[in-house]
Amino acid sequence: MFLTISTTGDKANPATDMGFLLHKHPDSPFSAPLSYGTAHVLYPEADAERCTAALLLEVDAVALVRRGKGKGRGGAPDAALAQYVNDRPYAASSLLAVALSSVFSSAMRGVCKARPELPGQPLPLRVEVPALPARGGPALVGRLFEPLGWTVTADPVALDTEFPDWGDSRYVRLVLESDTLTLAQALRHLYVLLPVLDDAKHYWVSADEVDKLLRAGEGWLPGHPEQQLITSRYLTRRWSLTRQALERLELVRLAETDDSVVEEMDNAVAADTGEEEKPTPLAVRRREAIVAALAASGATRVLDLGCGQGQLVQELLRNPVYSEIVGVDVSMRALAIASRRLGLDRMGERQASRVRLLQGSLSYTDKRLRGYDAAVLSEVIEHLDLPRLPALEYAVFGAARPRTVVVTTPNVEYNVRWESLPAGHARHGDHRFEWTREEFRAWAAKVAERHGYDVGFVPVGPDDPEVGPPTQMAVFVTGETKDRKEAKAA
Ligand code: SAH
Repeated sequence: MFLTISTTGDKANPATDMGFLLHKHPDSPFSAPLSYGTAHVLYPEADAERCTAALLLEVDAVALVRRGKGKGRGGAPDAALAQYVNDRPYAASSLLAVALSSVFSSAMRGVCKARPELPGQPLPLRVEVPALPARGGPALVGRLFEPLGWTVTADPVALDTEFPDWGDSRYVRLVLESDTLTLAQALRHLYVLLPVLDDAKHYWVSADEVDKLLRAGEGWLPGHPEQQLITSRYLTRRWSLTRQALERLELVRLAETDDSVVEEMDNAVAADTGEEEKPTPLAVRRREAIVAALAASGATRVLDLGCGQGQLVQELLRNPVYSEIVGVDVSMRALAIASRRLGLDRMGERQASRVRLLQGSLSYTDKRLRGYDAAVLSEVIEHLDLPRLPALEYAVFGAARPRTVVVTTPNVEYNVRWESLPAGHARHGDHRFEWTREEFRAWAAKVAERHGYDVGFVPVGPDDPEVGPPTQMAVFVTGETKDRKEAKAA
């Protein structure tokens, strides 16, 4: 079972630079044991003009079967023989993808400390997989790879060359060529699409496969014309996971097409300030209000849920009171911007230990979010479809259960005061709803009651006598927190 990756170059940009990217030296063959066999990397050719790296996978069929026992597929009696007599050891497949990610993990992430300028550069690339099981045939192979910038050759492999009447096998010889992609992109495409074509994963698909898929699919899977097929096959048609993944991909797409508008509106001047000097942008006022609420709560370990581009995380980080700040967002693009804003990659160890950015969706319970003092949901709830709001409510107030939760959302009544907002329009293209003060209070009161919190409300921005403030904020505290505070005061 093997695949090769080749590139070309010249004296100034030798093809052998690929060795830096793959973290495997062209002169020394590399082998690594995997749980179901051994992976080898070697270079059949390596000079300035051409360099080819080959990944070879020796599969131990027995280890594979033992490992899969009792899990997922393979439990049916007639499957027993198939476990021993199958094509796993010979055909490129999902196992090759797993090998790819264990042997080339840094390359997949685009990390290259020795030559940091290399990973971002597109390369002339040629990938060849001599025998790839391809359910859906050559046509599907084209539909999967072509939208990503590959020129695809997928020739069906005859079942037996001596008996052409027998027709084609389900294998193709795959050649992919491109000069617009980076090596990391190419590896991520293969990592996802090889198992999609194989369509017969032998190992158990767990919930974190969704995370793996989204990570590897970053930058190309959201919006891919075959996104649905890719997702459902990758997750071996486990519908609950597929649905979860598709929903997250959709959120990523929405968040990434639309989040520039937020700041624009927030920086707009409220019509009624009547002051000469430049008024404070609403986004700043909101952060001030949130920071004040957090300070009053005494929290030191804080979640910023739907942290966007990390402005609040950055502000909290400046205050040494906060020992742990975790930003969570569904948009990888927003997280990448947040990471740059915070300078995560050049931060000292002590500072870095105080902050983390996690990709995740707030409409699913997430163990990583348990046990914090406080959580902030700043301008986030209105980005969820109303029917998904109870899921967020449970994930935050029921499962993560921080002692304090601060929620802000636009007050729709105030919209008439925004000079630039056409009547009846939401402030942001991605807002699924905007609430009146009464609607927000009614929701918050129910949430508090259902989950054992007390809730209070704070206006943010100029509190208009008729329509109220532009932003409304609710501060929830658990019953126990309140009791403790009162005891302390007494
Ligand atoms: N809290 C920031 C950003 C608000 S914009 C601020 O106050 O400026 C809303 C953010 O919520 C976006 O970054 C969007 O990606 C994120 N978001 C929307 N739905 C989400 C979900 N279901 N899970 C996690 N994040 C979500």
